[in-house]
Amino acid sequence: MPHADPMDTSELEPILETVRKLCADFPGPYWRERDRERSYPTAFVEAMTRSGLLGALIPEVYGGSGLPLTAAAAILEEVHACGANAAALHAQMYTMGTVLRHGSETQKATYLPQIASGALRLQAFGVTEPTAGTDTTSISTRADRQGDHYVINGQKVWTSRAEHSDLMILLARTTPKDQVARKTDGLSVFLVDMRDAVGNGLTIKPIRTLFNHATTEIFFDNLKIPASALIGEEGKGFRYILDGMNAERILIASECIGDGRWFVQTATAYAKDRQVFNRPIGQNQGVQFPIARAYAEVRAAKLMTREAARLYDTGAPCGEEANIAKMLASEASWRAADMCVQTHGGFGFAEEYDVERKFRETRLYQVAPISTNLILSYVAEHVLGLPRSY
Ligand SMILES: Cc1cc2nc3c(=O)[nH]c(=O)nc-3n(C[C@H](O)[C@H](O)[C@H](O)COP(=O)(O)OP(=O)(O)OC[C@H]3O[C@@H](n4cnc5c(N)ncnc54)[C@H](O)[C@@H]3O)c2cc1C
Repeated sequence: MPHADPMDTSELEPILETVRKLCADFPGPYWRERDRERSYPTAFVEAMTRSGLLGALIPEVYGGSGLPLTAAAAILEEVHACGANAAALHAQMYTMGTVLRHGSETQKATYLPQIASGALRLQAFGVTEPTAGTDTTSISTRADRQGDHYVINGQKVWTSRAEHSDLMILLARTTPKDQVARKTDGLSVFLVDMRDAVGNGLTIKPIRTLFNHATTEIFFDNLKIPASALIGEEGKGFRYILDGMNAERILIASECIGDGRWFVQTATAYAKDRQVFNRPIGQNQGVQFPIARAYAEVRAAKLMTREAARLYDTGAPCGEEANIAKMLASEASWRAADMCVQTHGGFGFAEEYDVERKFRETRLYQVAPISTNLILSYVAEHVLGLPRSY
């Protein structure tokens, strides 16, 4: 008897069809206009929420669909393959593990049904700080316990979607670095209700970027939050954030694969259509081969991403696979983007083809949420056992 294909995701087809139908209502001109204005795609985010797609990872008991990460990854991949962009909403999916695994029953019962229904938006994730950069344990934002609340002081940067979110997952130091045994101790995670915070100790300043990404810097000046906002145990937050990072890497890799598929499809269609020297440009092997190579690279990255998601869903360790998937997928999508511009010649630069927009959008993923060097460092040191460099 043939073995069932462990990577068979055909049961996801109805969900992917829903994604395709939804994205068809948000074609290129919608994204171009948002890009030109640098405006948040509110209608798209609302449609994704209404359709239940954004609540894929929220358990059914809290009003979500209770789907595995493999399904969430397929949803985000399809969004990107349709030419849309999930950066405006993906944080809710990749922070979900932190809330589900480490949040209290009260936190889950209070927030998850409202997040699933769209009454509350969980789209802000405050980890990165201007001085610490990638060295997360060196963050200096402090949360000091005072009776039944914490007082937050400090600054975050690149806190995306903060202006379009009601809740934020925040990492802050609760014990100074020089007073803990290990530098990873003494960090805590909070679920901050931003509706009460803005103007009362929280200030948000937008940052204009290479592409349309609602990112910001945020400042905490004696922001008081209830002690009940703490997720899990005080001082153990670094571990909770690390826990969620494999999911984040897999979801981002999936977006890259979606982008890669879009670039390959778009370039293929153009190469068949565009006539120069009385023949389609795609008849020249110099044009064909880069498209074929991009296709092969995207497919290979997809295999690693699916394997990472499969391991994640079975509860097996998947740090190696998730990191490698994110690196391979972000590099494959970037090379596919470059190929797509080249295939389009001058028209690759014209706004109306969407190629230059997608090219700018997909560049992010070699830097955020984690840069390629840090992934290579993880593989070198944690997988291959090479000496630690930092
Ligand atoms: C558009 C955008 C949205 C973002 N959204 C969020 C968000 O919502 N929440 C959030 O918390 N963060 C967010 N980030 C931050 C993002 O995760 C960081 O930019 C990223 O992790 C890199 O950190 P850094 O910018 O501080 O780079 P740095 O740490 O300053 O590193 C700069 C460069 O040096 C390299 N480098 C540093 N140290 C080493 C080393 N030891 N060995 C080899 N190379 C090294 C890095 O690979 C990188 O290429 C976002 C960033 C961007 C650009």
